[in-house]
Amino acid sequence: MPWIAQICDKVCTMMFEPTREAGLARLNAFTADGASDYGRLRNFDIGPKQPSTVSQLSPWIRHRLVSEQEVLAQILNAHDPAQTVSFVQEVFWRGYFKGWLEQRPSVWEHYLIGLDRARENISADYADAISGRTGIACFDHWCAELVATGYLHNHARMWFASIWIFTLRLPWELGADFLLTHLIDGDPASNTLSWRWVAGLHTKGKTYPATAENIARFTEGRFDPAGQLANIAEPLVEPFDHPLVPLTAPSKRFCDDALLLVTPEDCTPQTFIAGQPRDTLGMMILRPAGLAASFTKGAVEQAGREVTPRQIIEAALQAHVSHVVTAWAPVGPVATILATAKTELAKEGITLHQVRRTYDDLTWPHATAGFFKLKKKIPQILRDLDLGSRSATSHP
Ligand SMILES: Cc1cc2nc3c(=O)[nH]c(=O)nc-3n(C[C@H](O)[C@H](O)[C@H](O)COP(=O)(O)OP(=O)(O)OC[C@H]3O[C@@H](n4cnc5c(N)ncnc54)[C@H](O)[C@@H]3O)c2cc1C
Repeated sequence: MPWIAQICDKVCTMMFEPTREAGLARLNAFTADGASDYGRLRNFDIGPKQPSTVSQLSPWIRHRLVSEQEVLAQILNAHDPAQTVSFVQEVFWRGYFKGWLEQRPSVWEHYLIGLDRARENISADYADAISGRTGIACFDHWCAELVATGYLHNHARMWFASIWIFTLRLPWELGADFLLTHLIDGDPASNTLSWRWVAGLHTKGKTYPATAENIARFTEGRFDPAGQLANIAEPLVEPFDHPLVPLTAPSKRFCDDALLLVTPEDCTPQTFIAGQPRDTLGMMILRPAGLAASFTKGAVEQAGREVTPRQIIEAALQAHVSHVVTAWAPVGPVATILATAKTELAKEGITLHQVRRTYDDLTWPHATAGFFKLKKKIPQILRDLDLGSRSATSHP
């Protein structure tokens, strides 16, 4: 597709290498050059060719090649607390969405059902939308940028989802699937719940309407879709509530006398699960699209010997271990696969342990309502993580 080639030619700043070193290098660069202006500039999407106004750390954080805790520690250590408030809060949005979906897993199940249903009635408008042929220049550009780079600025994601739902009037599940497939940071919780937030399903009745003025202002005039966008953004409704399910207690096991299983949900479990594993296995789930799939593959491959879920049993039997230890997989495809693997392993007398990071244990319990509930706890969580001294007075 020629438009993808055009964007590729232009993308010089946006390379995502699936290694921890590359993630740390990006964190260092952002700490030095971007963090102090983040609060002022973060809503501007000035285009893939320009230096970013945001950190672009999400591909590494999402797969936990670099953890939220490390990012927070470095930023809080390097900057005046007043300059970090906005960035720190944004980092906590990821934990908020993960914790929220973990406690309302039926949202993910209903998304998958809705996606299957929507796929049965694919329209020509959908084909135009995902090929960047709607005639709405900004939307068509973001479509091409997404496919070419595996990344979109947060504001572009919000505008994209809003135009998809309210102007193009396409099923939100198809749009969420399109992003989840192509984003290198594609994340079941952040993606699904952000789409639902735009649609008025997360904060019930409150939608996010994309406006031409807002797009023109925050793209610095690169786009101005005046007269092309829906004027009304009526909230979508669903005829049921999603029950709150208590968080499951994680395992505390270390990985001595066990196999360590690395998944795309957490590519550095050895940084918080103590012990020397007999072997380290890397289990990946490949999504169809190019850049997202190759980043995930690269990240998991680095960590350990590649296995399919079925080969985990074989590897455990060969290594003569009766324990497989892995990082907790939050609600999503990896968690679904691990649930099946756990049952199959148990039949062979092998226990699968899922160990959770302290950051998640401290964050998720507060993700039961709106973000504000978690936001109020940020100073305490930072103190509990021993990151609080510099930030304690600055956060509400
Ligand atoms: C429709 C839609 C779909 C999205 N899909 C995804 C997705 O699949 N995966 C994903 O990781 N994020 C998703 N987001 C959230 C957000 O857009 C990205 O996390 C952010 O743009 C990543 O870029 P960055 O690292 O430069 O962020 P920065 O602005 O530099 O923020 C730093 C970090 O904070 C976290 N963060 C910031 N904003 C958000 C947010 N709104 N929600 C959750 N975490 C946040 C991320 O870990 C990010 O790396 C989506 C947002 C929308 C509106």
